[in-house]
Amino acid sequence: MKKKTLIVDCPTCGEKVEWEETSRWKPFCSERCKLIDLGDWAEGNNRIPEDPEIGTPNELPQVIDDIDNHH
Ligand SMILES: [Zn+2]
Repeated sequence: MKKKTLIVDCPTCGEKVEWEETSRWKPFCSERCKLIDLGDWAEGNNRIPEDPEIGTPNELPQVIDDIDNHH
C-alpha cells in the first residue's frame, strides 16, 4: 500500500511542505516561518511590549508554549 503524502503551502512563505506526523512545524516549512506567523498573531492579541530582545530564538519558544496551553 502506497502512503500518500499531503503537501501543503507554508502560510508564511508559500513553500511546499510535506504534512507528516514527524513534521514538527507543520503547516509551516520551518520553525522560522511558524514563529513569524505566531508573532503576527501574538502582536494583535497579547500586546507584547515592543522590545528589541523579542524575536530572538531564546525568547520565542516560550511564546509558543504559552499559546499551545490555551487550546
Ligand atoms: Zn515557510
